[in-house]
Amino acid sequence: MYCRFCGKEVKEKAIVCTGCGRPVDTPGSVRTGGGNAGWSISTMLALVLATVFFPPVGLVFGVKGMLDEETKAKASVLLTIAVFMTLMWAALILGL
Ligand SMILES: [Zn+2]
Repeated sequence: MYCRFCGKEVKEKAIVCTGCGRPVDTPGSVRTGGGNAGWSISTMLALVLATVFFPPVGLVFGVKGMLDEETKAKASVLLTIAVFMTLMWAALILGL
């Protein structure tokens, strides 16, 4: 491939151009791809853990909160999300 700044031919895996020294932006390059992957794995893990633990915790706190007038509004939101996530899990497990 060729450098888009100076037009010099650069290697496919080159990060910077040998002609002008500017970064060669290759789609899906090792540099950015690796960084994003490391970040998204921990994010995915946190998301999965939240998805697994939120429904039971949300249901318990939602029902508890519904019994109290002061926390009823927040609890109903929590309960709605928890019920929705439980249904989502049920659909995943049952293969719907
Ligand atoms: Zn160049």
